[in-house]
Amino acid sequence: MGAEKINQSLPSRIQIVGAPDGIEGPGFFATQLDTVVGMARKNSIWPLPFATSCCGIEFMATMGAHYDLGRFGSERLSFSPRQADLLMVMGTIAKKMGPILRQVYEQMAEPRWVIAVGACASSGGIFDTYSVLQGIDRIIPVDVYVPGCPPRPEQILDGVMKIQELVQAESRGRRESAEYKAELGKYGIE
Ligand code: SF4
Repeated sequence: MGAEKINQSLPSRIQIVGAPDGIEGPGFFATQLDTVVGMARKNSIWPLPFATSCCGIEFMATMGAHYDLGRFGSERLSFSPRQADLLMVMGTIAKKMGPILRQVYEQMAEPRWVIAVGACASSGGIFDTYSVLQGIDRIIPVDVYVPGCPPRPEQILDGVMKIQELVQAESRGRRESAEYKAELGKYGIE
């Protein structure tokens, strides 16, 4: 079966990532390097799931066949921080666990992004106690917060899509900028 026939037989809801904006003519296509890099990064995010409790179960559903995070190019989970660029923190983080979470974040190479999934990771949730960290943004920077206790898989997918928007729009030079370094400096991270 030729490529054209295969394309015709695909259900219409399957969308192939479109080409970025640019100038094209016979035999050439020109665009900005930032745009191409953003598009590639956006559609190949490797998440590191840091799941400690019930929100992690919702993430398992998000990875399953029904919700299928792989549709967003993120089916390759990484349990090594050095091969991940999206830290997904899901569940209650005890204060004792804080230094470990921070170590995982520091071991990730730039560029890296962070989602706080659910009320516990975002704010401590219902656990306003002496032992629970009242939000992971006390120790590491967070890019997207997903509300809910627990959030449904649709909300987790929405959080990933918000991250994709940030990834697509980010300039390649941002991580070297003084503003970004100052932001990390607030957390004592060099
Ligand atoms: S936000 Fe709710 S569901 Fe998620 S880890 Fe906390 S208590 Fe569990």
